[in-house]
This record gives sequence, C-alpha cells and structure tokens, in this order.
Amino acid sequence: MAETLLLTGCKQLVTLAGPGPRRGRALREIGLVEDGAVLIREGRILSAGPRTRVEKHAAARRARKMDLGGRVVTPGLVDAHTHLVFAASRAAEYEQRIAGASYEKIAKAGGGILSSVRALRAASDDELLRTARARLARMAAHGTTTVEAKTGYGLDFENELRTLKLLRRLGNLQPVEIVPTLLAAHVVPPEYHRPGGADEYVDRIVRLILPAAALEGLAEYCDVFVERGAFTVAQARRIMAAARALGLKPRLHAEQLARTGGARLAVEVEAASVDHLDFVNSADIRALARSDVACILLPGCSFHLGLARYAPARRLIEAGAIVALATDCNPGTSPTLSLPMAMSLACTQMRLTPAEALAACTINAAYSLGRHARIGSIEPGKDADLAVFDVEDYREIPYYFGVNYCSMTLKCGKTVPRV
Ligand SMILES: [Zn+2]
Repeated sequence: MAETLLLTGCKQLVTLAGPGPRRGRALREIGLVEDGAVLIREGRILSAGPRTRVEKHAAARRARKMDLGGRVVTPGLVDAHTHLVFAASRAAEYEQRIAGASYEKIAKAGGGILSSVRALRAASDDELLRTARARLARMAAHGTTTVEAKTGYGLDFENELRTLKLLRRLGNLQPVEIVPTLLAAHVVPPEYHRPGGADEYVDRIVRLILPAAALEGLAEYCDVFVERGAFTVAQARRIMAAARALGLKPRLHAEQLARTGGARLAVEVEAASVDHLDFVNSADIRALARSDVACILLPGCSFHLGLARYAPARRLIEAGAIVALATDCNPGTSPTLSLPMAMSLACTQMRLTPAEALAACTINAAYSLGRHARIGSIEPGKDADLAVFDVEDYREIPYYFGVNYCSMTLKCGKTVPRV
C-alpha cells in the first residue's frame, strides 16, 4: 500500500494557495494557516490547511504521523536562475574587486566568465558532477526543491552539450528537480575574439549547438546574455527565433550593467523570463507589466559586487509585473546557494515584504519555469515539495539573514538527506 504521511505541528503553514502567477497586491497573499497540517500520499498533497480539518480526511487516520513541533512550513523553494555547474570559485577576483577593480575591467583582462570557461573545459565530468551535486545538496538544505540550471561555461559545441548531459545525470542522481537551460550565448568565446567573431559564434549556436541540444532533448529553455561585452539585441533575437523553432522557450539576461533593450526584446519574443533588470526604465516597466514575462530579480549580484543599484522591484510590483526571485548562483557575481539569503536581500535592499519575497521564490518562480500547476504552492494534487523552518513566524525566514533555519526539506513527500 502506498505510504500516507500526515504532517502536523505547523505553527504556520504558508500555502501560497490560489491562482498564480501573483501580480501587484496579490503577491502578498500567501495563504497563511495557523496550526496547519499537510496530508501526503504517493508524493502528492492530498489535503492541506487547518489541522482540525486535515485530520478529518479519511486517509489521515491510518497515515504515518510526523509532528513538526511548531515550525513554519512553506512550499519547497524554487530557484529559477542558477549557473550550477562550474569548476572553481573566483575568490581571487572577489579580492581584486574589493581593492577597486570593476567587474568589466576584470573580464577584459581575461578574468570573469572566461576564467570559468577555461576551468570548466579543463575539468573532468566526475569533478563537475561531484561539485554540482554538493551544491544541490546545500541548496536543498536551505529549502530549495527545484533548480533551473544554465550552461554557459563551455561556450563550444562539446562543452555546452557536455554540461547539459551532466545536468541530466545530476537530475537522476539526487532528488532536487533540475530544469536545464542552454546558455551558449553567455559571452563570446576566446576563439571568436576577432572582428565579426561574435556573429560567427551566433551562427554556430544557431546552426549546430541549439539543434543538437534540442534533438537530444537536453534543454528546456534557451537563454542569452544581452549586455555590452556580451550579445546585442539583434543577435539575441536571432538566437531566440531559432530556439523557438526548435521548441526551446526563451529566457534572457537583460539590463544588468547597462540598459541595452533586452527587456523589450523579452516582451517581443514572449520569453518565459527576463532576469536582472537593474537598469530598466519606466517604459520598460510598463511593457513588462502588460506582458506575461516573469521578471526574475537577482539581488545577490548587486550585493556581492558591492553595487549601490538594485532592480526597481517596488515599481515593477506596483505596475503589475510578475516578479520572481532567484539566487543567480554563479562563481563570479553571486556565489550563494541560499534562497532565504536572496529573500533577505530582496526585503532589505529592494523593499519587498517578507510575504512578497516568499511568493516571488515559490509560485512566481515556478510560473517562470512553466511548472506552477505542479509546484510552488501547497495545494491538493500538487507535488509534496515542502521546506520546514525552525522559526515561529514566516517573516523570520528573511529576518535572520545569513543563518540557515531550514531544518527539513521534502521533495515529492520524501525527506531530502542533509549534507
Ligand atoms: Zn545569470
């Protein structure tokens, strides 16, 4: 007989129940239940809500019972923007930046993303698997149950496809769900550093790398870094059109270090998400608010780079855009594995309320990955992905910044082993 599990002792059960994605004031509606319970069968949620009601469910009587002892339970967190597979930290650059060198200056000197490219190309499959798997375990220990993961440190046919294959293996090796994104257009690889080289590389992506990734079913999304020093709007448009034709949905990195028009392109191509957005203007905000494109904000980048500027989250929310939050876990600009830390930064630096921050990295993040019908909230029929925090009030999750209060994570009803 299939195991049924009854979780009680949820001082607060934050269900996020209701329609998604959340826009405007609805972003604060988190479906808070005091003294809640969750009934789980075969990895799915059978019932969730006030304990007195859930306990009356016919299946509750014979269920295995687990009393959480007065903790806070939220949906499993969804990290919708990461660069999970990388070979080495860039702690030396971190020190250079503290001494005054800019991110762009370091990149021009061969550091930055290109140093991660050299490291990944030189690393073995086993080494990349082992380190990425350890990161996933730590993410899960902070409450994350689904992770979008991009390529982009291979930048050639062999290593972009290799990274996608490693992501597939990682998905089978451990419980956290992985959503693979091809980001071959992260920066122009060194082999193409010559006049016209960027367009030649775009050509190679469109003719070779994208079709191979699509043919083997290795990627769900295709991303482009639209930025000075990376790719232009015209080049991104070309890649997005090719991706669409092959059944890969677009995502975009845009307006991180300067305004280049990437946000408007995201609206034009009906991208699943447009990420960063630190430099959007008022017209961009209006266009995004009218669209169904998720705006994924990544406050870890501004924090780690020591920048004063953060994306205008309040204006985006108030205009009605779909705002989500992610870690942007990567070795150069945001080496964190913790969505609760991203929530702390979003609250303190971007003035999201704790409720908004939680909705942004659950239901809205799930929407950006096309999975809001299955994950992102605690409702009957959905996957039993849950994060349990050893706090008394959900607001304490971002409040205790830099401290991990997540004490248990469940993926499809099963406890994820702790690191
Ligand atoms: Zn990124």
